[in-house]
Amino acid sequence: MNKPVVLRFAPSPTGPLHIGGVRTALYNYLFAKQQKGRLILRIEDTDQNRYLEGAEAHIRESFKWLGISFDEGVEEGGPNGPYRQSERARQGIYRQYASQLVESGHAYYAFDTPEELEEMRNRLKAGGQKLVQYNYAVRPQMKNSLNMPPEEVKARLDAGEPYVIRMKMPRKEEIRFYDEVRQWVVFHSSQLDDKILLKSDGMPTYHLANVVDDYLMGISHVIRGEEWLSSTPLHVMLYRSLGWEDHIPVFVHLPLILNPDGKGKLSKRQAYKLGFPVFPINWQDPQNGELSVGFREAGYLPEALLNYLALLGWNPGTEEEVMSLDRLAELFSLEKINNSATNFDPLKLKWFNQVYLRSKDVEALLPMVKEELKKQELPLPSDEFLAGAIELLRDRVQFPAEFVTAAPYLYAAPEQYDEKTARKRWTPEAKQHIAALLEQLKMLENWDAAAIKATVDTYVETAGIRHGLILAPLRLLLTGQPKGPDMFAMAALLGKQACTARIEQAMNQLPLAA
Ligand code: GLU
Repeated sequence: MNKPVVLRFAPSPTGPLHIGGVRTALYNYLFAKQQKGRLILRIEDTDQNRYLEGAEAHIRESFKWLGISFDEGVEEGGPNGPYRQSERARQGIYRQYASQLVESGHAYYAFDTPEELEEMRNRLKAGGQKLVQYNYAVRPQMKNSLNMPPEEVKARLDAGEPYVIRMKMPRKEEIRFYDEVRQWVVFHSSQLDDKILLKSDGMPTYHLANVVDDYLMGISHVIRGEEWLSSTPLHVMLYRSLGWEDHIPVFVHLPLILNPDGKGKLSKRQAYKLGFPVFPINWQDPQNGELSVGFREAGYLPEALLNYLALLGWNPGTEEEVMSLDRLAELFSLEKINNSATNFDPLKLKWFNQVYLRSKDVEALLPMVKEELKKQELPLPSDEFLAGAIELLRDRVQFPAEFVTAAPYLYAAPEQYDEKTARKRWTPEAKQHIAALLEQLKMLENWDAAAIKATVDTYVETAGIRHGLILAPLRLLLTGQPKGPDMFAMAALLGKQACTARIEQAMNQLPLAA
């Protein structure tokens, strides 16, 4: 019988959700959905020093906005709870397994003080040691239960002396495991240190808690970032030492995400600049204190972000690019995950945003445009007008805010006119023709795009002039800009009264080109 497919996304609430984390969660989500398995959201909050208030809520809010849902978790509940490791630690779950490891000889108590550890490191460095770590070679000289009579260990423990529990990493053992992305990976235990499993505050470290929970929660596949690959041999050793060898999950380490220039891993700093999915206003760049804009705040659509991230490290093996979550889940496969690092490409992400924005219907876009108008303190036109503005600009914008910022003249008469265009196009001749055209436009009863165009065409023909002589200045007077959407459709949307008023106003105000 096949093992049920159970996945988990296991963030540490130490900061806002980073795009790398979103991609990891997404791949877990897609695979779970495809395999009709379950996805657990587990909060790995046992590192009290790095705990950040609000981060867990931020992570959850991000997933709600993204549309990634979990089958089990702190809010969802489920049979494997609690889903916060700090709560599980309070129930003594991890301590129990740490003790089991000590009893079976795979781990030991260590009583070394910070000063003694420091001294050990200095000694190794001074001796020219390459591996400065607590390991098989060092452990005989240290203050741990391997070097003490049992009575002494007991006496120290009874006296409440601070201790940690360390993994007794074997001296000579090849640790091999299969990774879906990198195939067989081999580490040699002599290179690995005796990692702390249980800390002096009684909390487990990431390694112990992660493995114990993956086992207890029946995790079948561990899909996570490549930065965890080097921890995997320890995890494999833990499975073996706890007698869970048959429960080692399938490992899938996702390739790194690189900076847009391809130089180096996507840094926190870059990521701050590029933004996170969502976050409360007080997330700041730790280096320079700058407030950063989240993807949500910048106007990215969740569907676009997910589609982009799905392809950042995976491909369907075809040319297909624009895919819904359902379609992605249908096509997703572990075999098609890239095994080399991928550059984060902001331009491609924008392209996806544009694609999704274009395909949205007016009802979905209306609230976004209204919000932007409010933000810009502009008057709110009727829904009918806004629907027209959306249709007019739909193919020209990449972000919802651009329905306003790319065409402010739709919402208010221009106060300034593009100087270069004015200098070139607002000639005495142009003015004379515009004045004559204005009279004809004023007589137009049916103010729609076709009728306005017909009036302009007839005028141009009768006067025997180039279209450009009139069209460029007309756009300038109506919008203040040299370029924009289809002018006749725009003029129709603005309405006869607004158009004639704008033309008259500019004719009075705008100085002629010399
Ligand atoms: N808590 C770890 C993190 O913050 C989980 C890593 C893993 O998936 O094993 O990413």
